[in-house]
Amino acid sequence: MFEKILIANRGEIALRIQRACREMGIKTVVVHSEADREAKYVKLADESVCIGPAPSGKSYLNIPAIIAAAEVTDAQAIHPGYGFLSENADFAERVEQSGFVFIGPRPETIRLMGDKVSAKDAMLAAKVPCVPGSEGALPDSPEDIVRTARKVGYPVIIKAAGGGGGRGMRVVHSEAALLTAVSMTRAEAEAAFGNPTVYMEKFLEQPRHIEIQVLADEYGNAIFLGERDCSMQRRHQKIIEEAPAPGITDKQRHQIGQVCAEACSRIGYRGAGTFEFLYENGGFYFIEMNTRVQVEHPVTEMITGVDIVQEQIRIAAGEKLRYKQKDIVIRGHAMECRINAEDPFSFIPSPGKIDGYHPAGGPGIRIDSHIYQGYTVPSHYDSMIGKLIAYGDTRDQAIARMRVALSEMAISGIKTNIPLHQELFMDSTFVRGGTSIHYLEERLAKLKKGSI
Ligand code: ADP
Repeated sequence: MFEKILIANRGEIALRIQRACREMGIKTVVVHSEADREAKYVKLADESVCIGPAPSGKSYLNIPAIIAAAEVTDAQAIHPGYGFLSENADFAERVEQSGFVFIGPRPETIRLMGDKVSAKDAMLAAKVPCVPGSEGALPDSPEDIVRTARKVGYPVIIKAAGGGGGRGMRVVHSEAALLTAVSMTRAEAEAAFGNPTVYMEKFLEQPRHIEIQVLADEYGNAIFLGERDCSMQRRHQKIIEEAPAPGITDKQRHQIGQVCAEACSRIGYRGAGTFEFLYENGGFYFIEMNTRVQVEHPVTEMITGVDIVQEQIRIAAGEKLRYKQKDIVIRGHAMECRINAEDPFSFIPSPGKIDGYHPAGGPGIRIDSHIYQGYTVPSHYDSMIGKLIAYGDTRDQAIARMRVALSEMAISGIKTNIPLHQELFMDSTFVRGGTSIHYLEERLAKLKKGSI
């Protein structure tokens, strides 16, 4: 096992990784920007290294500074968390070339999955069901594009091969709008991701977002840890996640989970990963694979008892997977609210000093957050300041506990989206379960019009 790990991230996930390391007796090095100097996890780390000024381009994305920090502190491995460099194949490669272990998949796997066209090809070859669409990238010829769209059937969605974070996508409802949409998406993709390649998919009208968590070791063993439902999204950003997904049967879970685990063995996947699917009319359609730990991993940990971050570390250290599929038993239900420092209804970010903080507690409640009273939320980064997770024997109990927890959570000095979560946990349609990815935005639009 490693003696010392460098954490190349910030905020709640830096603390989460640090906790996993400390529990395992591993020393931690935290790299941080000038804006995060006072963070609690920086003080709790065995060592910390300032890698640059607040803007992430100069700190959390500064590859040479991170490698240098690992060198001067004698860290053996680097955990990239999520976001920042976590899915950057060049970073993973540089880490390994510099003699450190990258806690994640091999660089070539990250590269394969980072290009959505090659990812989809690999998934089709591994018999993972995908959204119907173009075979690979869209060709240049307008006639071919028109022909492909007719075959797929409108509405279609044009997506950038290099896209991410909900950007680089355009829905097309009719042939008249098709070619303009393709050239606009190409131009945007070139500007945003340096790659003009686009592909086409059938646009599913009312899907849910259901994803499968996997763990795989470097010896070809792979298991799945059930699914999560992350359909409550705004602008393709998840805000509430739960596990298991309402209405998914054991049989469905096993079928799709098995397909994902087999795909891992086939592509030589290593580490924790997530297969994201759209789910409509009983069918799963692969959209992309995330080759890192996800924000929503705690709901899976709550229902399986598996510590996903610790398993990532064990796998990276070359250990064989400790679990067989039959060891994974799903018990109870977990829900997670992402707590953001923002206005609950206008979504305008609200950084600043937290002058009062009273976290929720009680049975089944977990809070993953780095905030404390007196902490200043910097304006330079993502607005998520923590996650509130509620576990119960049943979904109803998890919901009841979440309602109580939300009412107990008191954060003052900045605005948070807790009031929005409180409303959503009283919404009868959401509470019934199984809402589509459009539900939250439709509801917010109604709220704005005053019709709720
Ligand atoms: P990103 O990497 O930017 O997150 P994804 O491919 O995961 O892109 O898609 C993000 C979101 O866009 C999905 O969760 C879904 O809401 C929507 N989306 C993507 N593909 C389709 C599709 N074929 N039909 C309907 N919605 C889609």
